[in-house]
Amino acid sequence: MNDDRLIQGMAGNGDFRILAAQTTNTVETAREILDLSPVATDALGRALTGSLLLARLLDKQLRNQYVSLRFEGDGPLGVVIAEGTVAGTARGFVDNRVPEDGMSLDVGRAIGRGMLTVIRGTPPAGKPYTSQVTLHGSGVAQELTQYLHRSEQISSAVLLGVLNRRDGVAAAGGIVIQAFPHTTQEAIAAVEQRIKEAPPLSTLIEKIPIEDVVAQVLAGMDYKQIDASFNVPLSYTCSCSRERALAPLALFGATDLQDMIDQGGTEVVCQFCGRRYLFSANDIASLEKRS
Ligand SMILES: [Zn+2]
Repeated sequence: MNDDRLIQGMAGNGDFRILAAQTTNTVETAREILDLSPVATDALGRALTGSLLLARLLDKQLRNQYVSLRFEGDGPLGVVIAEGTVAGTARGFVDNRVPEDGMSLDVGRAIGRGMLTVIRGTPPAGKPYTSQVTLHGSGVAQELTQYLHRSEQISSAVLLGVLNRRDGVAAAGGIVIQAFPHTTQEAIAAVEQRIKEAPPLSTLIEKIPIEDVVAQVLAGMDYKQIDASFNVPLSYTCSCSRERALAPLALFGATDLQDMIDQGGTEVVCQFCGRRYLFSANDIASLEKRS
């Protein structure tokens, strides 16, 4: 049961919908591929987990929805991007993956204050839905809770955690507890109390499977997991392709394209997975004809 997965459940006699994700391998893969420092791993790991949970939470009937979170704060990490899909794939990017003053920072300050842009859509057709909320430097889980409240009118508690050890990510995951409009203030207060009393999420995930973590956090709240056949396997998977890497080159002017042709071609590196795409002078010439 070490595979990353998203599980679903209900609690409090139908008062709460529960989504939970174990993302240890996903976040460790991101750390390896992007060569992230511990604080960058903390930030991106939480953002990746959040994007996967939100993609599922906000999915209506759309079966291939994605959610893209773009954190643009004034902290040392710079821009942090995480994209998750309902299908369970996630990918991400950190502008400054090894900040010099990153050692003593928590995630909230490492991202800083600024703007969070949330894009959700269904590729390839349909216009994506974009909304923005202010970043308060309070950490990824708090910022996402605020976004859900402000932009989606969903009252929820979002818990996210990443545990770094010397040799990599030891545990990562998250829980979203969604209250329904009929849920009473007493029931919400009881859940908030349970969350306050629970040990840090990542230390639980390091010791026990996510199914048991949720059961422990929601002990006494009549928590029931939905059939495990509805679990979604999660992974760090990039959707880039040669075609998609070539497309942005069409935005360059004729002089720049001619320069690339004169140099015998160019290389495009995917910022999410580091894959390298080599384009020959012929590839670029064909691009010029198309535009
Ligand atoms: Zn890629």
